[in-house]
Amino acid sequence: MSIITITSCPVCGSNDLKKTFDGVDYFSSREVFPVCDCAHCGFRFTNNFPSEDAIGRYYDSPDYISHSDSYKGLINRLYHYFRKRMLRKKVGLVAAHAARPPIRLLDIGCGTGHFLEAAKEQGWIVSGIEKDEKARESATIRSGLMVNDENFFWEMESSSFNVVTLWHVLEHLEKLNETIDKIKEITTPEGIIVLALPNCHSYDAGFYKELWAAYDIPRHLWHFSPDTVEKLLTKHHLKIIKRVRMPLDAFYISLLSEKYRGSNPLMKYGRPFGVGAIGLMRSLFNPERASSIIYIAKKWEINRNQANNSEKTCPS
Ligand SMILES: [Zn+2]
Repeated sequence: MSIITITSCPVCGSNDLKKTFDGVDYFSSREVFPVCDCAHCGFRFTNNFPSEDAIGRYYDSPDYISHSDSYKGLINRLYHYFRKRMLRKKVGLVAAHAARPPIRLLDIGCGTGHFLEAAKEQGWIVSGIEKDEKARESATIRSGLMVNDENFFWEMESSSFNVVTLWHVLEHLEKLNETIDKIKEITTPEGIIVLALPNCHSYDAGFYKELWAAYDIPRHLWHFSPDTVEKLLTKHHLKIIKRVRMPLDAFYISLLSEKYRGSNPLMKYGRPFGVGAIGLMRSLFNPERASSIIYIAKKWEINRNQANNSEKTCPS
């Protein structure tokens, strides 16, 4: 198996990297991978992880929910309940921040295509990228969606879309900086890039520490916080124009974390609701404590032009 070892920080380039803890793959293999922090910028990441061509087996389970659509068990049923609620919120969020219609949207890592379906119902022109063949087929057969594999992504022409979305996907992608560069290239100058990411500085992450299920090692390679997302996007000349908290994710993540901890039945269900509720309350006062956060970003250039234009037209 080929292993990728990170020797310089993907965000700031520093070589001052320190192991913070040993992360366990609780979901499938029980293998251990070092989780490191950059001493310079604070970026956290999984190290010594399997390369793209070898990581497939770590996803290979009927329980891998974004690929399988499994409704088995309470956790999966809760996931689907929250997903349905979130679909409406996501579509509304894109509609509120997208450039002028027609909206041409690309969803990267679209799984079985539920968000694309909801977006298509709005009359938007939609397509998706999905690595998993079964998920791709499911999206195509069920809804007639246009979904391609990742090779297609790298061939896409510049300014093809005015909305590019990645819902809990960027943390899985080995080519972090190259992917952001390509996304920038295929997005129109006035387009928006929407990233939903787990927050390793959230209340629930602090509570469960190494057992926090959203570390999801080794499938999650990069463990973002609001601060490191901003540093990464700024490096790529992208500006965050909006952050939206997703505090309800804490309930689902906490349930999974308790499962990994092997808690007794009372704690297994009781404590996650306590942690989720406290996380929800805290995120109301401090959005940076939310379990997951949606970031909406735009290219810097357009904002600078807008600023210049507004300066020119401003009488004062
Ligand atoms: Zn760094």
